[in-house]
Amino acid sequence: MTARPPAAVVFDLDQTLWDFTVLRDRAIDAVMERLAREVPDLNLPGGPVLEPSRIQDLYDELEAANPATRVPHSRIRREALTRAARQLGIEDPEVHDDLVDTYFSVRHGPAEPYDDVIPTLRTLKGAGTALAVLSNGNTRLHLIGLDGWWDAVVLAPEVGLAKPDPAIFELVADRLGVAEPSSLMSVGDNLVHDIEPARALGWRAVHLDREAATSSDDTINTLEVLPGLLGL
Ligand SMILES: [Mg+2]
Repeated sequence: MTARPPAAVVFDLDQTLWDFTVLRDRAIDAVMERLAREVPDLNLPGGPVLEPSRIQDLYDELEAANPATRVPHSRIRREALTRAARQLGIEDPEVHDDLVDTYFSVRHGPAEPYDDVIPTLRTLKGAGTALAVLSNGNTRLHLIGLDGWWDAVVLAPEVGLAKPDPAIFELVADRLGVAEPSSLMSVGDNLVHDIEPARALGWRAVHLDREAATSSDDTINTLEVLPGLLGL
């Protein structure tokens, strides 16, 4: 790693700065409870079966066919929930709407960032490093206690581009006002979305793998080591 710290660090959001799956899984549990009001013997002996995991699988299948640049995640979620309801014979559009409301009332509820986030942001900012968020998702920063830190926030659904398209990396660089690629660093949990496109543009990039046994220059298992890695 070069001695000179980057002018700006661009963070992925979901699974990098906060654990998105906690609220998602809680939201799916709420949807299951709502479905059970329509189908009281749901998942009981002799009753119809719809595993909670199937609710997410329906979403994942639709998302794979609809990149974030074209269809907002919220619309994909609505379609997935409607399909889940239809699998149980629920055709009432009011119930479909209610499932969507139920899901998002929990999904957009308050949550907290990972423990290592705020101390790391504080150190980077204190050293004069510009900070940005670059996400393909629709997480609202103020709901996870992460508003107020950023020199740039680029969310795919708002700009009509999505990672791994290099254009969205160039957009965030532009908004940060940093023209020199080697002065930019990308940090994220997804190699294909966060690391490979950044390196291809000449940025530095560090893969966050919270399951990794140790941290190196290329892969870290906690954000706590990032400032040290950057010589801060
Ligand atoms: Mg991520």
